[in-house]
Amino acid sequence: MSSDLAALGVTPTPLALLLLGRDRDLASERGVECPGDLPVASDPDLVARAQRARAALGDRAFVLGHHYQRDEVIGFADVTGDSFKLAQQAAARPEAEFVVFCGVHFMAESADILTAAHQQVVLPDLAAGCSMADMAALRQVEDAWSALEAAGLAGGTVPVAYMNSSAAIKSFTGRNGGTICTSSNADRSLRWAFERGERVLFLPDQHLGRNTAVLQLGIGLDECVVWDPHKPHGGLTVEQLRDAKMVLWRGHCSVHGRFSADNVRDVRERVPGVNVLVHPECRHEVVTAADSVGSTEHIIRTLEAAPAGSSWAVGTELNLVSRLAQQHPDKQIVFLDKTVCYCSTMNRIDLPHLVWALESLVEGRVPNRIVVDDDTAHWARVALERMLALPGDGTTVPAQR
Ligand code: SF4
Repeated sequence: MSSDLAALGVTPTPLALLLLGRDRDLASERGVECPGDLPVASDPDLVARAQRARAALGDRAFVLGHHYQRDEVIGFADVTGDSFKLAQQAAARPEAEFVVFCGVHFMAESADILTAAHQQVVLPDLAAGCSMADMAALRQVEDAWSALEAAGLAGGTVPVAYMNSSAAIKSFTGRNGGTICTSSNADRSLRWAFERGERVLFLPDQHLGRNTAVLQLGIGLDECVVWDPHKPHGGLTVEQLRDAKMVLWRGHCSVHGRFSADNVRDVRERVPGVNVLVHPECRHEVVTAADSVGSTEHIIRTLEAAPAGSSWAVGTELNLVSRLAQQHPDKQIVFLDKTVCYCSTMNRIDLPHLVWALESLVEGRVPNRIVVDDDTAHWARVALERMLALPGDGTTVPAQR
């Protein structure tokens, strides 16, 4: 691994390489049960055990692997993709009784919302959450909405929630006339919202909301305000709320939020002729300094289409950047930052947890099942269906469960 990191221009740091498994960080595993024995990471039979369990389950199980997962886990994925594509793929496989989601908690919730009632979604490690999704709790969002109502502004405000949010936030959005967006269709979701209201409450990623509004819809930076759930009245006056077109939730991705404009300047000095390619969850000053910005799928397609010999600095999760560099040895692909930047919660899904989950299913036990209650799922589906009805979204939502 260290030579792979060196090839990407990355210097490992002890903090970033901290092992987060059981017995290493007990407090962070509170409430997580692994009935039976979680295999030790050093077990030389892990791959063979995963293969045996996978073969025994056959079509009864469908294993989903998010792009940011480790190689050792991606190797067992029946399909890879972003969170929404994976949830749709699971729904399109009704014969799969068990959907093993190698990703994070909100993704498994989306899979449960979109799959049929007989399909059970399993998250191999319940500690695989998402720091961004956790930055918008339902109670906090309802408080913000109450403040907009008290100011007489809720009627003209349309909530738009990023896919990277909890089922409760998606449900709030559906219940209050809003829609969901992905990083691929955020511009279309915002245009849809502005046809129905004069301002948008964008949840939970301020950067995706700001970047899309300013760079794709031409909204002024001064028309974007940030609602801070930890301050009284979000830290905003009624006048600021009234004058805003975008009320951005104060949330961010702990991975993409790390990249800085200095990283862009530095890599341009280090790698002559480099193209800087970043995800829209990066900060506004990073996105405006880059050469290209787009979703994970955009990043993958751009590198596939790039000419041999071209150089790229990529600002997204390190597991994906490492895999892309291996897949395209004819191009120079480096990580935008100089230090390690894995998504620590994504990395909680490792081979021991996957083996444990698969072997539990073989033994007739469904571990770490993710269930969204019917009312929450109903309104979340309403919001998702609004997104899927956007012009240009040629995808379909599965039949109602
Ligand atoms: S990369 Fe960012 S948004 Fe994605 S799961 Fe990790 S913290 Fe959440």
